[in-house]
Amino acid sequence: MQFEGFSEEESKELSKAGIIVGTLEQIKGWARSNSLWPLTFATACCGIEMMGTGAANYDLDRFGIIFRASPRQADCIIIAGTITKKMAPILKRLYDQMPEPKWVVAMGSCATAGGPYVRAYSVVKGADQVIPVDVYIPGCPPSPPALIYGLNKLQDKIRLEAKGKKVR
Ligand code: SF4
Repeated sequence: MQFEGFSEEESKELSKAGIIVGTLEQIKGWARSNSLWPLTFATACCGIEMMGTGAANYDLDRFGIIFRASPRQADCIIIAGTITKKMAPILKRLYDQMPEPKWVVAMGSCATAGGPYVRAYSVVKGADQVIPVDVYIPGCPPSPPALIYGLNKLQDKIRLEAKGKKVR
């Protein structure tokens, strides 16, 4: 890895010494991406896979991802399950209660686009109808490795945005 403003040789020396070089924004992005605290929002079966991903077998903690029960302490929300029209205002309120900066993961086909209930009158056709979504994870339900992959992509996105790059 070559640091900005340093030669390849100097960058190697710095890396060997365990020194991180970057702007304050980049270091904040690095820290944020390695300490995501997601608010749990399990409304249906995908929630079981999310809980399994946080438990001993898959151990989300090793990525610095630790679930929180309060939106005030969370910087990320994993929407795991179907969003009904009755539930949508509650999702919006929880999102509004989270401090900035914050990110959203839509887990499973229900959260991304309505899933098997897409024709139901009572179901919202994806969480992005209610709040902005950063990462979509397909599947019904997505497996724990798929959720981990999606969260790793979110970490990449946070780090790239901190470098001033636009990520969609
Ligand atoms: Fe259940 Fe499938 Fe919807 Fe997930 S995507 S909440 S597994 S129906």
